[in-house]
Amino acid sequence: MKIHEYQAKEIFAEHGIPVPDGKVASTAGEAEKIAREIGGGVVVKAQVHVGGRGKAGGVKLAATPEEAKEKAAAILGMEIKGLPVKKVLVTRAMEIASESYVGLLLDRGSKRITWLVSASGGVDIEEVARTSPEKIRRLTVDPLVGFRWYHALRLASALYDDRGQIKAAASIITKLHKAFVDTDSSLAEINPLITTPGGEIWAVDAKLNADDSALFRQEEIEAMRDLDAEAPAETLAREKGLSYVPLDGEIGCVVNGAGLAMATMDVIQHHGGSPANFLDIGGSSNPEKVVAALDIVTAESHVKAILFNIFGGITRCDDVAEGIRQAFETKEPSVPVVIRLTGTNEEKGRRILTEAGYSALTTMDEAVREVVSLAGGGKGE
Ligand code: GDP
Ligand code: MN
Repeated sequence: MKIHEYQAKEIFAEHGIPVPDGKVASTAGEAEKIAREIGGGVVVKAQVHVGGRGKAGGVKLAATPEEAKEKAAAILGMEIKGLPVKKVLVTRAMEIASESYVGLLLDRGSKRITWLVSASGGVDIEEVARTSPEKIRRLTVDPLVGFRWYHALRLASALYDDRGQIKAAASIITKLHKAFVDTDSSLAEINPLITTPGGEIWAVDAKLNADDSALFRQEEIEAMRDLDAEAPAETLAREKGLSYVPLDGEIGCVVNGAGLAMATMDVIQHHGGSPANFLDIGGSSNPEKVVAALDIVTAESHVKAILFNIFGGITRCDDVAEGIRQAFETKEPSVPVVIRLTGTNEEKGRRILTEAGYSALTTMDEAVREVVSLAGGGKGE
């Protein structure tokens, strides 16, 4: 789960990381008021769950409260990488002498916490990683040794030459490590970690991604969930306990079982289509889940056709058929639907659908071919 910069900054500040003071606003008027409280220049920053806000025009300096109001009004009307901006952070503007990057993540390859730091921080860190990887210092933390002060010093020395700055940065790095571990995060980042002309070090940006599997014991983080920033389909899927992954193709897939979902996506691709999502209704035979699944899939506007691919085992085809019938009764699907049913009680399932005026196919291949052609794609075999 992602949280906003202002929320990550609250957590960083609780851990003693120096963060410029600021507050979040959802109207231009509030932004003006906060700017007046802070006094002096401020930065108005779009709060959306995506990086590269600066380049997209979502981070703007304002010298006066009136200007902060103007900038906030402009940013609050923006969309950044498809996400509407509903809140802005108004924070004290810092004078910047240099920008570094510090971050840590749970690295799947080494199965360990891995630190990445660079003296070339700022908005182009991805570019630095691509073009000059030698400018990024890595450190993998051995869980038996733990994260020690000398690790922090080693990382900080890759960023600064001045002894005082190395110590200050090492202290921030140590605190960031603790914040990461305390919140069960999968990623924590400060980009940029700045120095001021006077030599002080501050965290000007903050990012923290929580591990979804740990949210049950991270109440403070769970409470930071922003439903406005989540796609409606994802919220619905989570509420209904369905496993859902949005993709950018045109065929909505409702499948029972993760393995079958994978196979279905492969076959769709094979026949020249592309899946719009991965939605697993699981091994349950609950018609309500089918209704929810249909709602989720049709909530995505780029879906041109829907494929139900059900392999009845513990899941009974007649239950799924009943779910489909009920779902279509309450809400006529806005796009063509292809249904493939096979396995336990398939005869009964097919009868339910036929009586309701829908047809059901038995093989995956013919069902996929049909849905791909209905979605307007395919190899034209
Ligand atoms: P991002 O683009 O989404 O990563 O947003 P950031 O918070 O990192 O801001 C982008 C860039 O805006 C930073 O790299 C800075 O160069 C600049 N910026 C952000 N805050 C300040 C500030 O307080 N003062 C100045 N002068 N520049 C800032
Ligand atoms: Mn940044």
